[in-house]
Order: sequence, then structure tokens, then C-alpha cells
Amino acid sequence: MPRIAYGRIAQETNTLSPVLSGVEDFRRTHFLEGADLLARTTSRWKFEAEGMARNAELSGFAQEAERRGATLVPLFSAWAIPGGPLTAEAMAYFEERLDRELRAAGPLDGVMLSMHGAMAAVGRVDPEADLQKVVHRAVPNAKFVVTHDLHGHLTAEKVANADAIVAYRTNPHRDHVRTGARAAEILMRTLAGEVRPTVAWRCLPLVLGGGLNIDFLAPMRGIYAFLTKLHRDPRVLTASIYQNHLWNEAPHAGWGVYVATNDDPALAEQLADEIAERCWAVRHEQPPAIPSPSEAVKEAREAVWARRAGVVCISDASDMVGAGAPGENTGLLAALVNEGQGLVSYAPVRDAEVVAALWETPLGERVTVRVGGKLATAIHTPIEVSGTLADRKVTAAFGRALLLDLGHVKLIVTEGAPLAMKPAFYTDWGLPMRKADIVVVKSLFPFRWYFLPYNRKTIYAGSRGTTDFDVWRHVSFDRPVFPKDPVKHWTDGVRPAR
Ligand SMILES: [Zn+2]
Repeated sequence: MPRIAYGRIAQETNTLSPVLSGVEDFRRTHFLEGADLLARTTSRWKFEAEGMARNAELSGFAQEAERRGATLVPLFSAWAIPGGPLTAEAMAYFEERLDRELRAAGPLDGVMLSMHGAMAAVGRVDPEADLQKVVHRAVPNAKFVVTHDLHGHLTAEKVANADAIVAYRTNPHRDHVRTGARAAEILMRTLAGEVRPTVAWRCLPLVLGGGLNIDFLAPMRGIYAFLTKLHRDPRVLTASIYQNHLWNEAPHAGWGVYVATNDDPALAEQLADEIAERCWAVRHEQPPAIPSPSEAVKEAREAVWARRAGVVCISDASDMVGAGAPGENTGLLAALVNEGQGLVSYAPVRDAEVVAALWETPLGERVTVRVGGKLATAIHTPIEVSGTLADRKVTAAFGRALLLDLGHVKLIVTEGAPLAMKPAFYTDWGLPMRKADIVVVKSLFPFRWYFLPYNRKTIYAGSRGTTDFDVWRHVSFDRPVFPKDPVKHWTDGVRPAR
């Protein structure tokens, strides 16, 4: 029976955020080791990632590999919410630990590592490829598969240092389990000698296109349907597209295409070209323009029916914690405070200094503080607010936190990044949805599921922050890319594809 080691080191990095991520950020979100990892990924009923997903890549992988006769060797699973780049210490920690555990694991036939694909680290060009090289050095003879988020960056080093890479095929992502299971299928069939993965990949000079990039909406629907069709072809082991990570300012960024066929390099090359051609064809479909905070508040005010029947969710598109922003932008908050009179609004802001300064202050006291804008000082500015200190709490996800009642705005001030994505973020503080007109979320899309019972209108508001859609205007790419530069065809100036 093949012995297979598996684990995860995953974080989606926003390189515009100056707030670096350490090992403690992984521990705070998700960190499993050894027997606990095995137990949580081999039972469908246990949570693989408490608070995030009952079953994800590692459950899909472990259960499929076991079904196909593998003996599982759990490594460790570390998964942090999106944030700034990893510290040099965190990278060194993961490299050392991965190397040590692989060498101590006994003879291994295969290894699977689940990663994001857009992780950045201080002083590293391609940290995930560095982790892949650790695997190759520690167990050079083992077959090795990797899973990615489709918002990763495909690079020559990543492709060269894995036998196969499997990426999500849904956005918003709903196929973590299937992605892991497919990786297990490819690995086990490769070890059994049934298949031999032959890979082709492309990197397109394209950083933004495909409209809203949602797999079940036009224009991406047709491309994802084509990938699904390819997966029914027994000659194809996996086919993925990478839709680029906008807020990971890699000079080599761009949409990617990855195809692995069974011992058929010519077919892999042909399909990679065909998928690339389809991606290039949707480049002109750019995301819709995003209103300013003032326009968003005005629009919410006019949405009388939506506010009566439920709430208006305003997504703070320039400060999406779900995409790695620090959560301290004050652009939208200022508009709610100054222009949202009469609209009961719930909003978060990150400010560890204010939390510390008011931690001993008696509840019910009037306070005036400058909140936000203290981390990414080049982009964000603090604003002054006055109100009553209404509550305080210690949370697992974002540390200590306060509730400031500013009148029509109920403001939650947090020590860590406030991932306001679910109603519980507010209802846990005794702020019921039925009393709110406007609820601020710091998430691009997942909040839509969680707020389904309450949300009657969604507005995206953009100010200036670390998750702006037009960030590509300021990035220095290593070649001309669309839409920044006029590029005639995706093959112009494309980097070598193998
Ligand atoms: Zn993603």
C-alpha cells in the first residue's frame, strides 16, 4: 500500500498590506498536527477547519486516497486568513518543519501539499515554490501533487516542482473537497502506473478581465463549462485556469492555464492554447465601476424598500479583510458618520491603539477618539469619532474589541483584522439585523451567502485602500499586460511555457 504524506501551508497574501503575517496568525485561524489532522480529515463529520469549512482539500484528498488504498501520513495543516506577506521567520519555520516531518515520516511514495498559490514572503520571489523544493529535497523519489486556489500565480518554478497541480474550478470557491479528491486520484493512479502526467501551462499578459469572474455567470460560465467538459475526457487528468491575484503585486502576474494529460504532451499543449485563447477572448469584460462611499450611502438611503424589508449590505471594496486588507480604512466609515444621519449602520474598524486606550474605561462613558488609518499610513487616514463606550469583548478571531455607540453608527473597534462577513459579527454584540438599515461587510462575495436571509440590496463602495480593483495601474510588470498596456494577442511577449 502506498504511503502518502499530506499537509497544508496556505495563505492568500495581499502585498499592499504592511501588516506582516507570522506563525501566530496561522495558529489563530487554523493549525492542525499529526493524529488530530488525520482524525479531522478522514471523518466526514468532523470539522477540518473550524469556523471555515467542515471539509476542504485535505478531507477530499485523504478520503479519496484512503479509498484507493493509501496509508496516510499526516504532516501539519496551517491556514491563515488573508493578510500581508509572511515574515522571514514564518517562512523559515514552515520550511524547517516540513523538511523535518518529511524526513521523519519513513519511506514515502507520495506527497500532497495544499497551498493558496498567491502567498508572498519577505525576501522571497516565489515562497510556495521554495516549499515545493523542500519536498523534492527531502523525498526526491516521491510523486508530488499540489492544490491551489484559482487566484494563485502560476510560475515556472511551481510547475517544474510538482508532478501535477490541481486548482479550484469555482469562484466563489465551493469545490475545495473535489479539488483535494482529484489530486488524490491523480497521485494514486500515477503511483499505480495507470497514468503518467504530462503538463503544459501558459501565463497570459492579462491581469483583469472576465467581468465579475464568477464561474456561473457570463462571460466565465462558458470557459468553466469547457473545463468541465475536458475533465470528462479520459485523456485529461486536470485542466485549470488561474484568474490572477490582483492584490499580490507580483511583476510576473497574469492569468494562467494549466493542463495535465495522461502521457500526451501534444494534447496538453493544444488544450493549453485553446483555453488561453478562450480566456483572452473575455479580456475586455472589466468589472463594473464602483461608487464612492458618499454615493453608496446616498444609494442606500434611496433604497427605502430594501431597508424596510431587511438591510442594505455595503461591501467596503477598498478594505476587504477577506482579500487580505488590514480592515482599518475609514473612507466608508466617514461617509456613514457624516452623511448617513437617520440610517442605523453597523460598521467595524481595526485599531489596536484605541482598544488598548479604552480597555479600562467604564462602560457608558462618553469618549472621543481617532480611529483607523494607523497601519497602512500611506493609504489610510484616521478619523475622529465621538460616542458612548457600549461594550467590550475578547474574541478568538480578532483579539480584544469594543463597541462604540456613535448614535446612528454602531462601531466595532477591533485589535485584529475584522472579517465582517457573517451576521454573527454584529448579532454577537446584541446588534440585531432587524434594527439596521446598513451593514458594512469586509468581504467581496462570501458574505452574500451568509446574509441571504437579511440582505435586500448589495452596494460595493470604493475609496482608496489595499483591495482596489484598479491596483494594476500602479504595478510594474515585467512585460506589457492588458489592460495596463495595449497587447495585441496573448502570445505577444508571453514567457516560455515549459
Ligand atoms: Zn480565491
